[in-house]
Amino acid sequence: MFDTTEIESLRAEVRAFIDAKLPADIRDTVRAGRELKKEQHVRWQRLLAERGWLVGHWPGEFGGLGWGAAERNAFDEETCTRFCPELNAITFDMIGPVLIRFGTPTQQARFLAPIRCSEHWWCQGYSEPNAGSDLASLATRAERRGDRYVVNGQKIWTSYAHYADWMFCLVRTDPTVKQQEGISFLLIDMKSPGVTVRPILGIHGWRIFNEVFLENVEVPRENLVGRENQGWSIAKSLLEFERLRLARIGENKRRMARARAVGESVCEAGEPLVRRPWFRARFAELDVRLLALEANAARFLERARAGETIGPEVSQLKLRGSELIQLWEQLTVDALGPDALPFAPPSDADADSAPVAGAPAEPFADAIAATASARRFLSRGYTIAGGSSEIQRNILAKQVLGL
Ligand SMILES: Cc1cc2nc3c(=O)[nH]c(=O)nc-3n(C[C@H](O)[C@H](O)[C@H](O)COP(=O)(O)OP(=O)(O)OC[C@H]3O[C@@H](n4cnc5c(N)ncnc54)[C@H](O)[C@@H]3O)c2cc1C
Repeated sequence: MFDTTEIESLRAEVRAFIDAKLPADIRDTVRAGRELKKEQHVRWQRLLAERGWLVGHWPGEFGGLGWGAAERNAFDEETCTRFCPELNAITFDMIGPVLIRFGTPTQQARFLAPIRCSEHWWCQGYSEPNAGSDLASLATRAERRGDRYVVNGQKIWTSYAHYADWMFCLVRTDPTVKQQEGISFLLIDMKSPGVTVRPILGIHGWRIFNEVFLENVEVPRENLVGRENQGWSIAKSLLEFERLRLARIGENKRRMARARAVGESVCEAGEPLVRRPWFRARFAELDVRLLALEANAARFLERARAGETIGPEVSQLKLRGSELIQLWEQLTVDALGPDALPFAPPSDADADSAPVAGAPAEPFADAIAATASARRFLSRGYTIAGGSSEIQRNILAKQVLGL
């Protein structure tokens, strides 16, 4: 475990690395809040992989550095506030750690190396049209036939399934027992015959969500993780990984920087918004909320550092962190006023041409204005994904307050 001085020196190393290595086109895209191409994500991930930081939080024997929550938090904050791409949590924080804990040596040998060097992109096939918060009611069936499973059903909201090489998937293997006891955890090759990915275009205009249809998809039995019908406990344990990151401190700070830049450049009654009482009051309120969240997250980090088990009370970090992200985005939109109305395409992701080298950079505030509405809509998802705010409140009410 690192001490405070070591954390500070890790932060300094990360900052120096970013200054030297983060490609300008990637930084500018993130800074302006536009969507990255897959190629840009992968390029950045490979730079991190070369430095050994892509999976710094994995144990040493699996190619990581054994970072604890404090190191990970420092890394996240430095990379977020310096406009690096967010790492694909589904790949690095979900399936990687699941395979480390539950995978067979063969599965670990086969799947972990391509994740470590950013060769494979994974997606998460949990939600279904009639199974979201109530995930245990999922209906996708996997029937065992000899050495394979035959899978039929539909997944929905599958983020970046169109980028993915593999999907980890919850499937029903025994419909005769209690819902939670008949679910298994399968790894599905997205190139398998019978897998169809259909896009769902969100109100924000970003290509994130998909429906994934599974029609007689044959999955070798060796792609079952854990035992048959043990999938629910694996799915639950997955939610425990990296729970302390859900405060999203770095992501909030990144949005604070954007709101501040808009406040400095947009004028009202002859003065910049950062001098106008309404903007100052709202900015200060969010700043204070962020400080409180950071202090709260620091208490959890300290407990994790001391080896304490963190219980359901950690839901408050998810609740507060995700709501705060929405408040920053709303403040930015309100500060821009009518300038936030043009709904510019938020994405470079489908553009053919790369940014022209040496072209003058678009002013920061203009770039933010162009995508502010899209980002505000995009932020709605933060209080739904990974357990909605209502579900987090239920957890706090029942499991923490005993109501
Ligand atoms: C940005 C984003 C990315 C996502 N990515 C993925 C992905 O990659 N893979 C994947 O499998 N899924 C993904 N999802 C889906 C996500 O897991 C579900 O949207 C989420 O679990 C909620 O399920 P639902 O949409 O079916 O809503 P529902 O569960 O139908 O909920 C509808 C409303 O009812 C409320 N509600 C439900 N149950 C209760 C209750 N018991 N008490 C009080 N209120 C309740 C909810 O809070 C919500 O407001 C993603 C979602 C988002 C927004």
